[in-house]
Amino acid sequence: MAEVKKIAVIAGDGIGPEVVAEAEKVLKKTEELFGYQFELEHGLFGGIAIDEKGTPLPQETLDLCKKADAVLLGAVGGPKWDNNSKELRPETGLLGIRKALGLFSNIRPAVVFDCLKDASTLKPEVLEGTDLIVIRELTGGIYFGEKFRRDTENGQEAVDTCVYNVTEVERIVRQGFEVARTRRKKLASVDKANVLETSRLWRETVNRIAPEYPDVEVEHVLVDNCAMQLLRRPSSFDVIVTENMFGDILSDEAAMLTGSIGMLQSASMGEGSFGLYEPVHGSAPDIAGQGIANPIATILSVALMFRLTFGYAEAADVIERAVKNVLDAGHRTGDIAVDKSKSIGTVAMGELIVNAMAR
Ligand code: NAD
Repeated sequence: MAEVKKIAVIAGDGIGPEVVAEAEKVLKKTEELFGYQFELEHGLFGGIAIDEKGTPLPQETLDLCKKADAVLLGAVGGPKWDNNSKELRPETGLLGIRKALGLFSNIRPAVVFDCLKDASTLKPEVLEGTDLIVIRELTGGIYFGEKFRRDTENGQEAVDTCVYNVTEVERIVRQGFEVARTRRKKLASVDKANVLETSRLWRETVNRIAPEYPDVEVEHVLVDNCAMQLLRRPSSFDVIVTENMFGDILSDEAAMLTGSIGMLQSASMGEGSFGLYEPVHGSAPDIAGQGIANPIATILSVALMFRLTFGYAEAADVIERAVKNVLDAGHRTGDIAVDKSKSIGTVAMGELIVNAMAR
């Protein structure tokens, strides 16, 4: 019997519960196919937690996540809570959960499915074979450095400081090498070492660690060049590792290669194998409750969880293949359909994927 894996399931708001329900069906099917055992515990988080518990991140939800091997999150937020004070906003809970769980990296794959090449704004021949991962440092850099304003003789001046210590750089760079090892073994380290001191420390750290991973080919790419190359030759990238702000921008750029936000999974990782997995999209209040949300991003988040936290690579392959086969057969939710009148709903898409799962 496989070891029982504990998964904290946090559906959240808007389309969150709709897409998470389909991902749960995928987990169940994997148990049947592989004999794995998952213990799912559900927690309240986001707007629904504000309504029911008076806080976006109740202590019991945090405890549930800390006890778990992995967290599956839907999405949080919505217009109902947009005018709340900062501590009563769902997004404050998101920052809080990442901090409390010690998550320091964000991992976002961008895979272009052949049958969806036309959904992207780039030419199909440029996108051919694109399958990359952006690993972004989440807790340091200019977003977290000291910020202040001061008066000068030229008027008010604003200062944002960018700070990284070698420990912070080393742990994310190592993660980059480790993830590259599980894939095509190519690591692009992105920095701005021609002008920034933090980037020079970053590059030195990459070069110091690289000999420990002789099987991984390292390329240093300046961030401005990387932004261009992502549009020119996206399929040549395997794993991109970079600091917080560069990663914020590049991961959104990479996301647009794929054409639809409803297809993109993500992971936030801390030390070891613990991770929080979620779709890149938000709670989509404009379509919530209509049964038309695309559940694929959340389903692919389960595959990512299998790969990065549980080491269930074969099961991850089964899920990804099922998604590809269903798309190849022409099934589409509204967000990725060319002919919207033929699109299918959330539950139908989830069931087709579950039925397509086979070893
Ligand atoms: P969004 O991602 O929720 O929606 C953007 C657009 O994409 C909408 O038109 C939506 O209908 C569509 N879309 C998103 N996911 C889809 C899916 N699975 N299937 C089909 N269409 C989909 O972004 P937004 O509108 O900027 O934000 C809405 C709310 O979500 C806000 O409250 C925001 O703060 C929150 N949000 C939460 C997270 C998170 O929980 N991690 C992330 C981003 C935004």
